Amino acid sequence: MLQIPCPGKDTEGLGQSSDSIQNPTDERREPAEERLEKMCGAVRTLLECMGEDPHRYRVDIDSIINGAVFCEGHDEMIMVKDIDIHSLCEHHLIPFTGKMHIGYVSSGAVIGLSKLPRIAEIASRRLQIQERLTKHGARMVMDVLQPQGVAVVMEASHLCMEMRGVEKKGSTTVTSCVLGCFKERDVYNEFLRVLGIN
Ligand SMILES: [Zn+2]
Repeated sequence: MLQIPCPGKDTEGLGQSSDSIQNPTDERREPAEERLEKMCGAVRTLLECMGEDPHRYRVDIDSIINGAVFCEGHDEMIMVKDIDIHSLCEHHLIPFTGKMHIGYVSSGAVIGLSKLPRIAEIASRRLQIQERLTKHGARMVMDVLQPQGVAVVMEASHLCMEMRGVEKKGSTTVTSCVLGCFKERDVYNEFLRVLGIN
């Protein structure tokens, strides 16, 4: 599956500093850990002043799944396609949006179908890069269900790509993560066939 990395290591001034962009205050800056702590504190203060409870962003996966795992003795492929995803690129703090497709082959237990979009949502509700978001989605399904395998494919448009430069408008980044039995070619091919890609 095609994998195009998120364009995070540019030097066009949106993200990281580079050797060519010297910040005169760099030498006097505190260690990265201290800076991170300060920034976290600042964001927490902002949220609190807006009347938010910053702690509510800690989501407990078990409370989301809430017992919606059923023993069905089912061992066929189950797939939920076209799950809407909205996330924030951690390199540029700019949205990326797209669709996630999640498939799994049960080891007997199945999950309430509405829970797969919830899992995708939990994975996307943090600063992310698409590659990691795809992996998080797959691992969460693996942890919750312990199926024979999980496959996740995600297609997304990154505003950070579209905003900078020409020739990038309308491009789509595709990532995939396969675990367990999906590593077998025929199982993965079946997944792609049902997805309409193969
Ligand atoms: Zn980005």
